[in-house]
Amino acid sequence: SEERSLNFLEEIVEEDISAGKHGGRVLTRFPPEPNGYLHIGHAKSICLNFGLAKKYNGKTNLRFDDTNPVTEDTEYVESIKNDVRWLGFEWANELYASDYFDHLYDFAVAMIKKGLAYVDDSTAEEIAAQKGTPTEPGTPNQYRSRTVEENLQLFAEMKDGKYPDGAKVLRAKLDLAAPNMHLRDPLMYRIKHAHHHRTGDKWCIYPMYDFAHGQSDAIENITHSICTLEFIPHRDLYNWFIEQLNVFPSRQYEFARLNMTYTVMSKRKLMQLVNDNYVDGWDDPRMSTISGLRRRGYTAASIREFCERIGVAKRENMIDFSLLEFCIREDLNKTAWRRMAVLDPIKLVITNYPEGQTEVMHGENNPEVEGGDGGRDIPFSNELWIEREDFMEEPPKKFFRLGVGLSVRLKNAYIVTCESYKKDAEGNVTEIHCTYLPNSKSGHDTSGVNVKGTIHWVSVPHAKTAEVRLYDRLFKVEDPSNEEGDFKDYINPESLTIIPNAYIEPDLATAKEGKGYQFIRKGYFTVDKLSTPDKLVFNRTVTLKDGWKA
Ligand code: ATP
Ligand code: MG
Ligand code: MG
Repeated sequence: SEERSLNFLEEIVEEDISAGKHGGRVLTRFPPEPNGYLHIGHAKSICLNFGLAKKYNGKTNLRFDDTNPVTEDTEYVESIKNDVRWLGFEWANELYASDYFDHLYDFAVAMIKKGLAYVDDSTAEEIAAQKGTPTEPGTPNQYRSRTVEENLQLFAEMKDGKYPDGAKVLRAKLDLAAPNMHLRDPLMYRIKHAHHHRTGDKWCIYPMYDFAHGQSDAIENITHSICTLEFIPHRDLYNWFIEQLNVFPSRQYEFARLNMTYTVMSKRKLMQLVNDNYVDGWDDPRMSTISGLRRRGYTAASIREFCERIGVAKRENMIDFSLLEFCIREDLNKTAWRRMAVLDPIKLVITNYPEGQTEVMHGENNPEVEGGDGGRDIPFSNELWIEREDFMEEPPKKFFRLGVGLSVRLKNAYIVTCESYKKDAEGNVTEIHCTYLPNSKSGHDTSGVNVKGTIHWVSVPHAKTAEVRLYDRLFKVEDPSNEEGDFKDYINPESLTIIPNAYIEPDLATAKEGKGYQFIRKGYFTVDKLSTPDKLVFNRTVTLKDGWKA
Protein backbone atom coordinates (compact mmCIF):
# COMPACT_ATOMS: atom_id res chain seq x y z
CA SER A 1 0.00 0.00 0.00
CA GLU A 2 0.97 3.60 -0.56
CA GLU A 3 3.06 5.82 1.71
CA ARG A 4 1.22 7.23 4.67
CA SER A 5 2.19 9.44 7.58
CA LEU A 6 3.29 7.84 10.83
CA ASN A 7 0.58 6.86 13.28
CA PHE A 8 0.94 8.01 16.89
CA LEU A 9 2.41 4.70 18.04
CA GLU A 10 5.05 4.77 15.31
CA GLU A 11 5.88 8.30 16.41
CA ILE A 12 6.34 7.12 19.99
CA VAL A 13 8.55 4.23 18.91
CA GLU A 14 10.66 6.45 16.66
CA GLU A 15 11.14 8.95 19.49
CA ASP A 16 12.17 6.14 21.84
CA ILE A 17 14.61 4.74 19.31
CA SER A 18 16.22 8.09 18.62
CA ALA A 19 16.45 8.75 22.38
CA GLY A 20 18.30 5.44 22.67
CA LYS A 21 15.69 4.03 25.05
CA HIS A 22 16.28 0.30 25.70
CA GLY A 23 19.19 0.53 23.27
CA GLY A 24 16.74 1.03 20.42
CA ARG A 25 15.20 -2.37 21.03
CA VAL A 26 11.47 -2.88 20.28
CA LEU A 27 9.57 -5.81 21.79
CA THR A 28 5.77 -5.90 21.67
CA ARG A 29 3.34 -8.62 22.68
CA PHE A 30 -0.07 -9.84 21.60
CA PRO A 31 -1.82 -11.01 24.78
CA PRO A 32 -5.05 -12.89 24.06
CA GLU A 33 -7.02 -14.53 26.81
CA PRO A 34 -7.69 -18.09 25.58
CA ASN A 35 -11.41 -17.93 26.36
CA GLY A 36 -12.76 -17.84 22.81
CA TYR A 37 -11.81 -17.51 19.17
CA LEU A 38 -10.14 -14.40 17.81
CA HIS A 39 -12.27 -11.85 15.96
CA ILE A 40 -11.52 -9.08 13.47
CA GLY A 41 -10.87 -6.67 16.38
CA HIS A 42 -8.05 -8.94 17.50
CA ALA A 43 -6.73 -8.89 13.94
CA LYS A 44 -6.30 -5.15 14.31
CA SER A 45 -4.31 -5.63 17.51
CA ILE A 46 -2.24 -8.40 15.88
CA CYS A 47 -1.43 -6.31 12.81
CA LEU A 48 -0.56 -3.39 15.05
CA ASN A 49 1.71 -5.25 17.48
CA PHE A 50 3.45 -7.44 14.91
CA GLY A 51 3.50 -4.68 12.29
CA LEU A 52 5.08 -2.16 14.64
CA ALA A 53 7.81 -4.56 15.73
CA LYS A 54 8.52 -5.63 12.17
CA LYS A 55 8.81 -2.04 10.98
CA TYR A 56 11.43 -1.26 13.62
CA ASN A 57 13.40 -4.52 13.48
CA GLY A 58 11.82 -5.69 16.68
CA LYS A 59 10.01 -8.79 17.83
CA THR A 60 6.61 -9.76 19.16
CA ASN A 61 5.71 -12.30 21.82
CA LEU A 62 2.52 -14.28 21.74
CA ARG A 63 1.46 -14.34 25.37
CA PHE A 64 -1.62 -16.17 26.51
CA ASP A 65 -3.19 -14.12 29.28
CA ASP A 66 -4.45 -17.19 31.09
CA THR A 67 -4.93 -15.98 34.64
CA ASN A 68 -8.62 -16.86 34.82
CA PRO A 69 -8.87 -20.66 35.10
CA VAL A 70 -12.63 -20.93 34.74
CA THR A 71 -13.08 -19.67 31.19
CA GLU A 72 -9.89 -20.85 29.52
CA ASP A 73 -9.28 -23.86 27.37
CA THR A 74 -6.57 -25.40 25.19
CA GLU A 75 -8.97 -25.56 22.22
CA TYR A 76 -8.83 -21.76 22.22
CA VAL A 77 -5.04 -21.72 22.52
CA GLU A 78 -4.72 -23.85 19.39
CA SER A 79 -7.22 -21.78 17.41
CA ILE A 80 -5.47 -18.54 18.38
CA LYS A 81 -2.06 -19.83 17.27
CA ASN A 82 -3.56 -21.04 14.02
CA ASP A 83 -5.24 -17.68 13.34
CA VAL A 84 -2.15 -15.57 14.09
CA ARG A 85 -0.05 -17.76 11.81
CA TRP A 86 -2.68 -17.70 9.09
CA LEU A 87 -2.72 -13.90 9.25
CA GLY A 88 0.94 -14.10 8.30
CA PHE A 89 2.74 -13.34 11.55
CA GLU A 90 5.41 -15.20 13.46
CA TRP A 91 5.93 -14.70 17.16
CA ALA A 92 9.35 -14.67 18.79
CA ASN A 93 8.16 -16.65 21.84
CA GLU A 94 5.03 -18.52 22.82
CA LEU A 95 4.43 -17.61 26.45
CA TYR A 96 1.81 -18.04 29.12
CA ALA A 97 1.05 -15.68 31.99
CA SER A 98 0.42 -18.86 34.01
CA ASP A 99 4.11 -19.73 33.63
CA TYR A 100 4.77 -16.66 35.78
CA PHE A 101 2.53 -17.71 38.67
CA ASP A 102 5.52 -18.47 40.92
CA HIS A 103 7.18 -15.25 39.90
CA LEU A 104 4.00 -13.24 40.48
CA TYR A 105 3.55 -14.87 43.88
CA ASP A 106 7.06 -13.75 44.82
CA PHE A 107 6.24 -10.23 43.60
CA ALA A 108 3.17 -10.24 45.85
CA VAL A 109 5.23 -11.36 48.83
CA ALA A 110 7.69 -8.56 48.09
CA MET A 111 4.83 -6.07 48.09
CA ILE A 112 3.63 -7.37 51.47
CA LYS A 113 7.15 -7.09 52.88
CA LYS A 114 7.31 -3.48 51.76
CA GLY A 115 4.06 -2.83 53.62
CA LEU A 116 2.31 -2.22 50.31
CA ALA A 117 -0.18 -5.10 50.33
CA TYR A 118 -2.59 -6.59 52.83
CA VAL A 119 -4.97 -9.50 53.18
CA ASP A 120 -8.56 -8.34 53.41
CA ASP A 121 -11.38 -10.55 54.76
CA SER A 122 -14.18 -8.28 53.54
CA THR A 123 -16.78 -9.43 51.03
CA ALA A 124 -16.83 -8.01 47.51
CA GLU A 125 -19.83 -5.85 48.49
CA GLU A 126 -18.06 -4.47 51.56
CA ILE A 127 -14.97 -3.66 49.55
CA ALA A 128 -17.04 -1.87 46.93
CA ALA A 129 -18.87 0.15 49.60
CA GLN A 130 -15.65 1.07 51.40
CA LYS A 131 -14.12 2.35 48.15
CA GLY A 132 -16.22 5.51 48.27
CA THR A 133 -17.38 7.31 45.16
CA PRO A 134 -15.54 9.44 42.62
CA THR A 135 -16.37 12.49 44.77
CA GLU A 136 -16.04 10.85 48.23
CA PRO A 137 -12.86 9.19 49.47
CA GLY A 138 -12.94 5.56 50.56
CA THR A 139 -12.67 4.44 54.18
CA PRO A 140 -9.99 2.08 55.51
CA ASN A 141 -11.20 -1.07 57.28
CA GLN A 142 -9.69 -3.02 60.21
CA TYR A 143 -7.69 -5.34 57.92
CA ARG A 144 -5.73 -2.51 56.34
CA SER A 145 -3.57 -2.22 59.45
CA ARG A 146 -2.55 -5.87 59.61
CA THR A 147 1.16 -6.36 60.24
CA VAL A 148 3.57 -7.57 57.58
CA GLU A 149 4.00 -10.87 59.46
CA GLU A 150 0.29 -11.42 59.72
CA ASN A 151 -0.17 -10.66 56.02
CA LEU A 152 2.67 -12.97 55.01
CA GLN A 153 1.15 -15.80 57.00
CA LEU A 154 -2.40 -15.25 55.75
CA PHE A 155 -1.28 -14.96 52.13
CA ALA A 156 0.68 -18.22 52.45
CA GLU A 157 -2.41 -19.86 53.93
CA MET A 158 -4.53 -18.54 51.06
CA LYS A 159 -2.08 -20.17 48.68
CA ASP A 160 -2.13 -23.42 50.68
CA GLY A 161 -5.86 -23.76 50.25
CA LYS A 162 -6.91 -23.00 53.83
CA TYR A 163 -9.75 -20.70 52.79
CA PRO A 164 -12.75 -21.07 50.51
CA ASP A 165 -13.38 -18.93 47.42
CA GLY A 166 -14.11 -15.32 48.30
CA ALA A 167 -13.04 -15.59 51.96
CA LYS A 168 -10.03 -13.33 51.53
CA VAL A 169 -8.27 -11.23 48.93
CA LEU A 170 -4.86 -9.62 48.69
CA ARG A 171 -5.05 -5.87 48.06
CA ALA A 172 -2.52 -3.21 47.35
CA LYS A 173 -2.18 -0.67 50.20
CA LEU A 174 -2.20 2.36 47.98
CA ASP A 175 -4.52 5.35 48.31
CA LEU A 176 -8.17 5.14 49.31
CA ALA A 177 -8.64 8.81 48.46
CA ALA A 178 -7.12 8.71 44.97
CA PRO A 179 -9.23 10.48 42.34
CA ASN A 180 -8.59 7.45 40.10
CA MET A 181 -10.79 4.72 41.59
CA HIS A 182 -8.43 2.04 40.24
CA LEU A 183 -5.84 3.23 42.76
CA ARG A 184 -8.11 2.76 45.79
CA ASP A 185 -6.43 -0.34 47.15
CA PRO A 186 -7.00 -2.55 44.08
CA LEU A 187 -7.22 -6.33 44.36
CA MET A 188 -4.06 -8.25 43.54
CA TYR A 189 -5.10 -11.86 44.24
CA ARG A 190 -8.33 -13.75 44.77
CA ILE A 191 -9.05 -17.29 45.92
CA LYS A 192 -10.45 -19.60 43.28
CA HIS A 193 -10.42 -23.35 43.75
CA ALA A 194 -10.52 -24.20 40.07
CA HIS A 195 -8.62 -26.41 37.65
CA HIS A 196 -6.36 -24.47 35.31
CA HIS A 197 -5.74 -25.63 31.71
CA ARG A 198 -1.97 -25.56 32.29
CA THR A 199 -1.18 -25.47 35.99
CA GLY A 200 -3.87 -27.99 36.89
CA ASP A 201 -4.66 -27.91 40.63
CA LYS A 202 -1.36 -26.39 41.73
CA TRP A 203 -2.91 -23.02 42.49
CA CYS A 204 -6.05 -21.95 44.27
CA ILE A 205 -5.17 -18.25 44.23
CA TYR A 206 -4.99 -16.35 40.96
CA PRO A 207 -3.61 -12.87 40.23
CA MET A 208 -5.94 -10.13 38.99
CA TYR A 209 -5.37 -8.58 35.56
CA ASP A 210 -3.72 -5.49 37.09
CA PHE A 211 -1.23 -7.57 39.01
CA ALA A 212 -0.48 -9.93 36.13
CA HIS A 213 -0.35 -7.95 32.93
CA GLY A 214 2.25 -5.29 33.70
CA GLN A 215 4.38 -7.75 35.65
CA SER A 216 4.30 -10.21 32.74
CA ASP A 217 5.31 -7.36 30.43
CA ALA A 218 8.21 -6.54 32.75
CA ILE A 219 9.34 -10.16 33.07
CA GLU A 220 9.52 -10.36 29.25
CA ASN A 221 11.18 -6.93 28.91
CA ILE A 222 8.35 -5.69 26.70
CA THR A 223 9.17 -2.17 25.56
CA HIS A 224 5.76 -1.07 24.25
CA SER A 225 2.66 -2.65 25.75
CA ILE A 226 -0.23 -1.69 23.50
CA CYS A 227 -3.81 -2.05 24.62
CA THR A 228 -7.25 -0.55 24.00
CA LEU A 229 -8.59 2.72 25.41
CA GLU A 230 -10.54 1.22 28.29
CA PHE A 231 -7.20 0.54 29.98
CA ILE A 232 -6.27 4.22 30.27
CA PRO A 233 -7.50 4.35 33.90
CA HIS A 234 -5.33 1.28 34.66
CA ARG A 235 -2.14 2.95 33.45
CA ASP A 236 -1.22 4.67 36.76
CA LEU A 237 -1.55 1.36 38.54
CA TYR A 238 0.47 -0.42 35.84
CA ASN A 239 3.28 2.09 36.44
CA TRP A 240 2.96 2.03 40.23
CA PHE A 241 3.44 -1.75 40.51
CA ILE A 242 6.42 -1.62 38.15
CA GLU A 243 7.95 1.18 40.20
CA GLN A 244 7.38 -0.47 43.58
CA LEU A 245 8.76 -3.81 42.39
CA ASN A 246 11.63 -2.07 40.64
CA VAL A 247 11.34 -4.26 37.54
CA PHE A 248 11.83 -3.59 33.83
CA PRO A 249 10.00 -0.35 32.97
CA SER A 250 7.54 -1.53 30.31
CA ARG A 251 5.16 1.23 29.24
CA GLN A 252 1.50 1.00 28.31
CA TYR A 253 0.02 2.83 25.28
CA GLU A 254 -3.65 2.87 24.33
CA PHE A 255 -5.41 2.94 20.97
CA ALA A 256 -9.08 2.84 19.93
CA ARG A 257 -10.52 -0.64 19.60
CA LEU A 258 -12.09 -1.64 16.30
CA ASN A 259 -15.87 -1.42 16.18
CA MET A 260 -17.59 -2.46 12.99
CA THR A 261 -21.17 -2.07 11.78
CA TYR A 262 -23.56 -5.05 11.57
CA THR A 263 -21.44 -7.20 13.87
CA VAL A 264 -20.78 -7.84 17.52
CA MET A 265 -17.17 -7.85 18.61
CA SER A 266 -16.85 -9.49 21.95
CA LYS A 267 -15.98 -13.07 22.66
CA ARG A 268 -18.76 -13.23 25.25
CA LYS A 269 -21.41 -12.29 22.68
CA LEU A 270 -19.91 -14.44 19.94
CA MET A 271 -19.96 -17.35 22.39
CA GLN A 272 -23.70 -16.80 22.96
CA LEU A 273 -24.33 -17.00 19.22
CA VAL A 274 -22.48 -20.31 19.15
CA ASN A 275 -23.98 -21.82 22.31
CA ASP A 276 -27.54 -20.80 21.44
CA ASN A 277 -27.12 -22.20 17.91
CA TYR A 278 -27.77 -18.97 16.06
CA VAL A 279 -24.74 -19.90 13.98
CA ASP A 280 -22.94 -23.08 13.04
CA GLY A 281 -19.91 -22.77 15.36
CA TRP A 282 -17.19 -20.19 15.94
CA ASP A 283 -16.15 -20.44 12.30
CA ASP A 284 -19.60 -19.94 10.82
CA PRO A 285 -19.01 -17.76 7.73
CA ARG A 286 -21.29 -15.05 9.17
CA MET A 287 -19.20 -14.63 12.30
CA SER A 288 -16.74 -11.75 12.73
CA THR A 289 -14.17 -14.28 13.93
CA ILE A 290 -10.98 -14.73 11.95
CA SER A 291 -11.88 -18.39 11.44
CA GLY A 292 -15.36 -17.39 10.22
CA LEU A 293 -13.97 -14.86 7.79
CA ARG A 294 -11.48 -17.44 6.54
CA ARG A 295 -14.25 -19.99 5.99
CA ARG A 296 -16.24 -17.29 4.24
CA GLY A 297 -13.35 -16.85 1.79
CA TYR A 298 -11.58 -13.80 3.18
CA THR A 299 -7.84 -13.87 2.57
CA ALA A 300 -5.22 -12.94 5.14
CA ALA A 301 -3.96 -10.23 2.78
CA SER A 302 -7.39 -8.60 2.62
CA ILE A 303 -7.67 -8.51 6.42
CA ARG A 304 -4.18 -7.02 6.76
CA GLU A 305 -5.06 -4.42 4.13
CA PHE A 306 -8.26 -3.61 6.02
CA CYS A 307 -6.32 -3.11 9.26
CA GLU A 308 -3.84 -0.88 7.45
CA ARG A 309 -6.60 1.23 5.92
CA ILE A 310 -8.52 1.82 9.16
CA GLY A 311 -5.30 3.00 10.79
CA VAL A 312 -4.69 3.63 14.46
CA ALA A 313 -6.77 6.18 16.33
CA LYS A 314 -6.97 7.54 19.86
CA ARG A 315 -10.74 7.94 19.77
CA GLU A 316 -13.49 5.36 19.50
CA ASN A 317 -15.09 5.12 16.08
CA MET A 318 -17.24 2.77 14.04
CA ILE A 319 -15.91 1.28 10.83
CA ASP A 320 -18.30 0.42 8.06
CA PHE A 321 -18.49 -3.29 7.27
CA SER A 322 -18.43 -2.36 3.58
CA LEU A 323 -14.78 -1.31 3.93
CA LEU A 324 -13.90 -4.91 4.78
CA GLU A 325 -15.93 -6.03 1.75
CA PHE A 326 -14.11 -3.51 -0.41
CA CYS A 327 -10.75 -4.97 0.68
CA ILE A 328 -11.70 -8.55 -0.12
CA ARG A 329 -13.18 -7.56 -3.49
CA GLU A 330 -9.97 -5.76 -4.42
CA ASP A 331 -7.90 -8.78 -3.48
CA LEU A 332 -10.11 -11.39 -5.13
CA ASN A 333 -10.43 -9.37 -8.30
CA LYS A 334 -6.69 -9.87 -8.71
CA THR A 335 -6.45 -13.47 -7.50
CA ALA A 336 -9.76 -15.32 -7.91
CA TRP A 337 -10.19 -17.67 -10.84
CA ARG A 338 -13.19 -17.01 -13.04
CA ARG A 339 -15.67 -19.83 -13.35
CA MET A 340 -19.25 -20.28 -14.50
CA ALA A 341 -22.04 -21.35 -12.17
CA VAL A 342 -25.78 -21.12 -12.70
CA LEU A 343 -27.66 -20.52 -9.48
CA ASP A 344 -31.26 -20.36 -10.77
CA PRO A 345 -31.25 -22.57 -13.87
CA ILE A 346 -33.41 -22.74 -16.94
CA LYS A 347 -32.58 -24.90 -19.96
CA LEU A 348 -31.40 -23.45 -23.26
CA VAL A 349 -31.42 -25.74 -26.32
CA ILE A 350 -29.39 -24.88 -29.41
CA THR A 351 -31.51 -26.33 -32.19
CA ASN A 352 -28.91 -26.16 -34.97
CA TYR A 353 -26.04 -27.64 -32.91
CA PRO A 354 -25.43 -31.42 -33.28
CA GLU A 355 -27.12 -33.37 -30.51
CA GLY A 356 -24.72 -35.48 -28.41
CA GLN A 357 -21.63 -33.55 -29.54
CA THR A 358 -19.17 -32.15 -26.99
CA GLU A 359 -16.91 -29.26 -27.90
CA VAL A 360 -14.19 -28.00 -25.59
CA MET A 361 -14.11 -24.25 -25.07
CA HIS A 362 -11.29 -22.44 -23.40
CA GLY A 363 -11.53 -19.78 -20.69
CA GLU A 364 -8.75 -17.91 -18.94
CA ASN A 365 -8.50 -18.05 -15.16
CA ASN A 366 -8.21 -14.35 -14.55
CA PRO A 367 -8.17 -11.57 -17.15
CA GLU A 368 -6.66 -9.16 -14.57
CA VAL A 369 -3.45 -11.20 -14.64
CA GLU A 370 -1.04 -10.91 -17.54
CA GLY A 371 -1.52 -14.02 -19.69
CA GLY A 372 -4.83 -14.82 -17.95
CA ASP A 373 -3.20 -16.79 -15.10
CA GLY A 374 -3.59 -19.97 -17.11
CA GLY A 375 -6.97 -21.33 -18.05
CA ARG A 376 -9.30 -24.27 -18.11
CA ASP A 377 -11.35 -26.34 -20.52
CA ILE A 378 -15.09 -25.84 -20.53
CA PRO A 379 -17.27 -28.51 -22.18
CA PHE A 380 -20.01 -27.21 -24.44
CA SER A 381 -23.03 -28.98 -25.96
CA ASN A 382 -26.44 -28.30 -27.48
CA GLU A 383 -28.11 -28.17 -24.04
CA LEU A 384 -27.04 -25.54 -21.55
CA TRP A 385 -28.16 -24.22 -18.20
CA ILE A 386 -28.47 -20.45 -18.07
CA GLU A 387 -29.85 -18.12 -15.38
CA ARG A 388 -33.61 -17.78 -15.43
CA GLU A 389 -33.24 -14.00 -15.10
CA ASP A 390 -31.31 -13.87 -18.39
CA PHE A 391 -34.50 -14.54 -20.35
CA MET A 392 -37.68 -12.46 -20.56
CA GLU A 393 -40.90 -13.22 -22.39
CA GLU A 394 -41.46 -9.54 -22.97
CA PRO A 395 -38.08 -7.88 -22.73
CA PRO A 396 -38.04 -4.11 -22.35
CA LYS A 397 -35.79 -1.96 -24.52
CA LYS A 398 -32.12 -2.19 -23.55
CA PHE A 399 -32.52 -5.71 -22.17
CA PHE A 400 -29.28 -7.03 -23.61
CA ARG A 401 -29.98 -10.63 -22.75
CA LEU A 402 -32.43 -13.16 -24.17
CA GLY A 403 -35.99 -12.85 -25.46
CA VAL A 404 -37.45 -13.94 -28.77
CA GLY A 405 -35.41 -12.28 -31.53
CA LEU A 406 -32.58 -11.19 -29.19
CA SER A 407 -28.95 -12.34 -29.45
CA VAL A 408 -26.23 -12.73 -26.81
CA ARG A 409 -22.78 -14.13 -26.62
CA LEU A 410 -22.37 -17.23 -24.50
CA LYS A 411 -19.21 -16.52 -22.50
CA ASN A 412 -16.14 -18.18 -24.08
CA ALA A 413 -18.38 -19.71 -26.79
CA TYR A 414 -20.80 -18.69 -29.54
CA ILE A 415 -23.37 -16.04 -30.31
CA VAL A 416 -26.92 -17.41 -30.03
CA THR A 417 -30.28 -15.95 -31.04
CA CYS A 418 -33.51 -16.85 -29.26
CA GLU A 419 -36.15 -18.25 -31.61
CA SER A 420 -38.85 -19.55 -29.27
CA TYR A 421 -39.55 -20.91 -25.81
CA LYS A 422 -41.74 -23.49 -24.04
CA LYS A 423 -44.05 -23.10 -21.07
CA ASP A 424 -45.67 -25.57 -18.69
CA ALA A 425 -49.36 -25.70 -17.74
CA GLU A 426 -48.87 -23.08 -15.02
CA GLY A 427 -47.30 -20.69 -17.47
CA ASN A 428 -43.70 -21.06 -16.26
CA VAL A 429 -41.04 -20.89 -18.92
CA THR A 430 -39.33 -24.28 -19.07
CA GLU A 431 -37.06 -24.19 -22.09
CA ILE A 432 -35.53 -21.62 -24.39
CA HIS A 433 -34.73 -22.48 -27.98
CA CYS A 434 -31.91 -20.75 -29.82
CA THR A 435 -29.81 -21.06 -32.92
CA TYR A 436 -26.09 -20.38 -32.91
CA LEU A 437 -23.71 -18.77 -35.40
CA PRO A 438 -21.05 -21.40 -36.19
CA ASN A 439 -18.52 -18.74 -37.23
CA SER A 440 -18.85 -16.68 -34.01
CA LYS A 441 -16.71 -18.75 -31.66
CA SER A 442 -14.85 -16.62 -29.08
CA GLY A 443 -11.34 -15.90 -30.22
CA HIS A 444 -12.16 -16.98 -33.81
CA ASP A 445 -15.18 -14.83 -34.52
CA THR A 446 -15.54 -14.01 -38.22
CA SER A 447 -19.31 -13.48 -38.09
CA GLY A 448 -19.10 -9.70 -38.04
CA VAL A 449 -22.10 -9.73 -35.71
CA ASN A 450 -21.98 -7.43 -32.69
CA VAL A 451 -23.98 -8.25 -29.58
CA LYS A 452 -24.17 -6.13 -26.46
CA GLY A 453 -24.67 -8.84 -23.85
CA THR A 454 -22.63 -11.81 -22.66
CA ILE A 455 -24.15 -14.43 -20.38
CA HIS A 456 -22.71 -17.38 -18.47
CA TRP A 457 -23.82 -20.98 -18.91
CA VAL A 458 -23.01 -24.56 -17.96
CA SER A 459 -23.41 -27.54 -20.30
CA VAL A 460 -26.29 -29.76 -19.10
CA PRO A 461 -24.65 -33.19 -19.60
CA HIS A 462 -21.35 -32.00 -18.11
CA ALA A 463 -22.61 -29.89 -15.19
CA LYS A 464 -21.85 -30.79 -11.58
CA THR A 465 -24.29 -29.86 -8.89
CA ALA A 466 -23.34 -27.97 -5.76
CA GLU A 467 -24.96 -26.47 -2.72
CA VAL A 468 -24.34 -22.75 -2.76
CA ARG A 469 -24.67 -20.71 0.42
CA LEU A 470 -25.38 -17.03 0.06
CA TYR A 471 -24.48 -15.10 3.18
CA ASP A 472 -25.67 -11.71 4.20
CA ARG A 473 -25.04 -9.55 7.29
CA LEU A 474 -25.70 -11.36 10.54
CA PHE A 475 -27.52 -8.36 12.04
CA LYS A 476 -30.25 -6.12 10.70
CA VAL A 477 -29.00 -3.01 12.50
CA GLU A 478 -25.69 -1.18 12.45
CA ASP A 479 -24.91 -1.51 16.13
CA PRO A 480 -26.83 -4.41 17.68
CA SER A 481 -25.07 -3.96 21.03
CA ASN A 482 -26.47 -0.46 21.35
CA GLU A 483 -30.11 -1.31 20.67
CA GLU A 484 -32.79 -1.81 23.27
CA GLY A 485 -33.09 -5.33 24.63
CA ASP A 486 -30.89 -8.26 23.70
CA PHE A 487 -28.46 -7.97 20.81
CA LYS A 488 -29.71 -11.35 19.56
CA ASP A 489 -33.13 -9.82 18.86
CA TYR A 490 -31.51 -8.03 15.93
CA ILE A 491 -30.23 -11.03 14.03
CA ASN A 492 -31.02 -10.86 10.33
CA PRO A 493 -33.35 -13.81 9.63
CA GLU A 494 -32.13 -13.80 6.04
CA SER A 495 -28.43 -13.97 6.80
CA LEU A 496 -28.20 -17.31 5.01
CA THR A 497 -29.91 -18.45 1.80
CA ILE A 498 -29.15 -21.97 0.66
CA ILE A 499 -29.36 -22.94 -2.99
CA PRO A 500 -29.42 -26.73 -2.81
CA ASN A 501 -28.80 -27.46 -6.48
CA ALA A 502 -26.78 -24.98 -8.43
CA TYR A 503 -25.05 -26.08 -11.64
CA ILE A 504 -21.33 -25.47 -11.85
CA GLU A 505 -18.78 -26.10 -14.55
CA PRO A 506 -16.98 -29.43 -14.02
CA ASP A 507 -13.61 -27.84 -13.29
CA LEU A 508 -15.03 -26.51 -10.00
CA ALA A 509 -15.35 -30.06 -8.68
CA THR A 510 -11.64 -29.86 -7.86
CA ALA A 511 -11.82 -26.40 -6.24
CA LYS A 512 -9.32 -26.08 -3.44
CA GLU A 513 -10.16 -24.92 0.08
CA GLY A 514 -8.80 -21.44 0.66
CA LYS A 515 -8.87 -20.53 -3.03
CA GLY A 516 -11.15 -17.76 -4.24
CA TYR A 517 -13.35 -18.14 -7.32
CA GLN A 518 -15.39 -15.57 -9.12
CA PHE A 519 -18.64 -17.07 -10.35
CA ILE A 520 -18.88 -14.64 -13.19
CA ARG A 521 -21.69 -12.11 -12.82
CA LYS A 522 -22.62 -13.70 -9.47
CA GLY A 523 -19.95 -12.89 -6.90
CA TYR A 524 -16.90 -14.34 -5.21
CA PHE A 525 -17.12 -17.82 -3.75
CA THR A 526 -14.96 -20.34 -1.98
CA VAL A 527 -15.36 -24.02 -1.29
CA ASP A 528 -16.58 -24.79 2.24
CA LYS A 529 -14.38 -26.81 4.59
CA LEU A 530 -17.10 -29.52 4.76
CA SER A 531 -17.46 -29.84 0.99
CA THR A 532 -16.85 -33.36 -0.39
CA PRO A 533 -16.65 -34.67 -3.97
CA ASP A 534 -20.11 -36.20 -3.44
CA LYS A 535 -21.58 -33.05 -2.00
CA LEU A 536 -19.86 -29.91 -3.15
CA VAL A 537 -20.57 -26.83 -1.05
CA PHE A 538 -19.61 -23.26 -1.90
CA ASN A 539 -19.81 -20.17 0.31
CA ARG A 540 -20.35 -16.74 -1.12
CA THR A 541 -17.58 -14.50 0.17
CA VAL A 542 -18.95 -11.24 -1.18
CA THR A 543 -21.11 -10.01 -4.02
CA LEU A 544 -19.62 -8.28 -7.03
CA LYS A 545 -19.79 -4.59 -6.45
CA ASP A 546 -21.58 -3.39 -9.52
CA GLY A 547 -22.53 -6.70 -11.05
CA TRP A 548 -20.89 -7.78 -14.23
CA LYS A 549 -21.99 -5.87 -17.33
CA ALA A 550 -24.62 -7.96 -19.07
P1 ATP B 1 -13.26 -9.49 24.06
O1 ATP B 1 -13.98 -8.44 24.81
O2 ATP B 1 -13.72 -9.67 22.68
O3 ATP B 1 -13.19 -10.77 24.82
P2 ATP B 1 -10.69 -8.91 25.01
O4 ATP B 1 -10.01 -7.61 24.97
O5 ATP B 1 -11.20 -9.37 26.32
O6 ATP B 1 -11.80 -8.92 23.91
P3 ATP B 1 -8.31 -10.39 24.75
O7 ATP B 1 -8.13 -11.81 24.39
O8 ATP B 1 -7.99 -9.99 26.13
O9 ATP B 1 -9.81 -10.04 24.41
O10 ATP B 1 -7.58 -9.45 23.71
C1 ATP B 1 -6.26 -9.63 23.24
C2 ATP B 1 -5.80 -8.33 22.68
O11 ATP B 1 -6.63 -7.92 21.61
C3 ATP B 1 -5.87 -7.24 23.73
O12 ATP B 1 -4.67 -6.51 23.70
C4 ATP B 1 -7.03 -6.40 23.31
O13 ATP B 1 -6.84 -5.07 23.65
C5 ATP B 1 -7.07 -6.61 21.79
N1 ATP B 1 -8.43 -6.42 21.29
C6 ATP B 1 -9.54 -7.05 21.68
N2 ATP B 1 -10.62 -6.59 21.02
C7 ATP B 1 -10.18 -5.62 20.19
C8 ATP B 1 -10.81 -4.74 19.24
N3 ATP B 1 -12.12 -4.76 19.03
N4 ATP B 1 -10.03 -3.88 18.57
C9 ATP B 1 -8.71 -3.85 18.77
N5 ATP B 1 -8.05 -4.63 19.64
C10 ATP B 1 -8.78 -5.51 20.35
MG1 MG C 1 -8.85 -9.04 27.89
MG1 MG D 1 -12.88 -10.27 27.27
